[in-house]
Amino acid sequence: MASIPTPEHVDPDCIFCKIVARELPAFVLDEDERTLAFMDINPASRGHALVMPRAHTQDLLTIGPEDLQAAVQSAQRLAARMTDRLRCDGVNLLNCCGAPAWQTVFHFHIHVIPRYKDDPARDPLRLPWIPAPGNMDDIKAVAEELNA
Ligand code: 5GP
Ligand code: ZN
Repeated sequence: MASIPTPEHVDPDCIFCKIVARELPAFVLDEDERTLAFMDINPASRGHALVMPRAHTQDLLTIGPEDLQAAVQSAQRLAARMTDRLRCDGVNLLNCCGAPAWQTVFHFHIHVIPRYKDDPARDPLRLPWIPAPGNMDDIKAVAEELNA
């Protein structure tokens, strides 16, 4: 039996907390003690799903290690199921941390996005950046800033 988050782990204004509490409907795919996986209602590709912790936490910077581990394991299960049942050719995991990084729902979640080769009807996705070689001095400077 999946655990119910205690009141301090619920944000009454959060739509994903309402999905956990079954106050809002969702197509649920997987659940365990710590997580719930469900379909995204604005799918980027056919089968696009989300995995979230049951307990409310804002983002990647605030989630605890046990919930993060459980969410990643749920995402792995889902990726395997998508590969098996949907016959997708690949899977992207995406987490948006902060509004500038495209986060719109501030209850941590991982997008699990099945990918289909040469199939724009099921998969219209393109890389959001144009890969190009970086300036080595800039890359070194950033690495030094991160390592300082
Ligand atoms: P974010 O932009 O925060 O990374 O992702 C939020 C995701 O939640 C979006 O892909 C959006 O389509 C999805 N979403 C927003 N509201 C709902 C909802 O009420 N139900 C479901 N199933 N997904 C939602
Ligand atoms: Zn929440």
